[in-house]
Amino acid sequence: TRVLGFESSCDETGVALVEVAGDAPPRLLAQALHSQIAMHQAYGGVVPELASRDHVRRVLPLAREVLSQAGLTLRDVDLVAYTQGPGLAGALLVGAGVAVSLAAALDLPALPIHHLEGHLLSPFLSADPPEFPFVALLVSGGHTQLMRVDDVGAYEILGETIDDAAGEAFDKSAKLLGLPYPGGPHLARLAEFGNPEAFDLPRPLLHSGKPDFSFAGLKTAVLTQVKKIGDSPCEQTRADLAAATQAAIVDVLVKKSLLALKETGLKRLVVAGGVGANARLREALNAACAKRGVRVHYPELALCTDNGAMIAMAAALRVQRGLAGEGALRRDGGFEVRPRWELGAA
Ligand code: ATP
Ligand code: MG
Ligand code: FE
Repeated sequence: TRVLGFESSCDETGVALVEVAGDAPPRLLAQALHSQIAMHQAYGGVVPELASRDHVRRVLPLAREVLSQAGLTLRDVDLVAYTQGPGLAGALLVGAGVAVSLAAALDLPALPIHHLEGHLLSPFLSADPPEFPFVALLVSGGHTQLMRVDDVGAYEILGETIDDAAGEAFDKSAKLLGLPYPGGPHLARLAEFGNPEAFDLPRPLLHSGKPDFSFAGLKTAVLTQVKKIGDSPCEQTRADLAAATQAAIVDVLVKKSLLALKETGLKRLVVAGGVGANARLREALNAACAKRGVRVHYPELALCTDNGAMIAMAAALRVQRGLAGEGALRRDGGFEVRPRWELGAA
């Protein structure tokens, strides 16, 4: 079975082709991605209307590119998958509309996929795919959750953020430091030559004893420090503040991941979502997990943030497990998107 997958939930248009046969691990045949980051940068964040329009411009050329990379045509596709939610409604409608229309025109089934399931299963595209069950730390721009994952489709949320996501904490702090959007990777780069101990920043809920998170207070503390150091602080001070911010976020993510591992008794951790690309987070998790005999799995660096490959992969894994039965598939050309949708909810 060859799955053509479409992602358009936010500011990345992604298309990919994954092949699945029997029990063998699904294989990525080709993928293409267009990031709108440069377009939104002038506004300091994603402008939903511009995002939708750009998805419209990009999605079909990307699909053509993927097919030509794979040396295949639309006739070689057996199933079309698309991100149904959560995300920006207008952006989701573009990918879903194109995917379902293609499926209807080719008389193929269409399979809606949960964006976070895509992130969660993205490590299956890596050279070292995980085995079930595992604890998942999902750290993206909009979500921060710890989950127990027993199989594809069997997700239990152990804890999540009560306010900002970890990616949001990175992005908002970076913005306060005058860095471009999305600030996470920029803040991480600035932090490389900073001293994390130069500032004492809060680690909210660190000792709550539950796998929950809160990052709003950190952003406020960063704001207070930014005001103190003035508009043109020396580069070293800014680097120190960046390093302290990153350290505070990483500390909390590591401590809560360990708590979830302890609570579940599982010895495997999967990290997914954009913040999973953070080098200090990977380092700290690797060290903490090695001590406890826990194996950690990550998506490839380029597949931490949004992409089409993870959507096609999630669909392929669902097909392989018989989870894409007639009930889940649409053949009537109809579709709906779910801008707000909790993973695990019906
Ligand atoms: P969601 O999946 O919850 O809808 P999203 O799709 O916008 O949100 P992702 O694409 O998974 O989120 O990740 C984007 C986030 O990852 C941004 O907040 C970005 O700053 C952050 N990020 C990316 N690389 C790094 C890095 N190296 N260090 C820290 N943060 C990073
Ligand atoms: Mg993005
Ligand atoms: Fe995402």
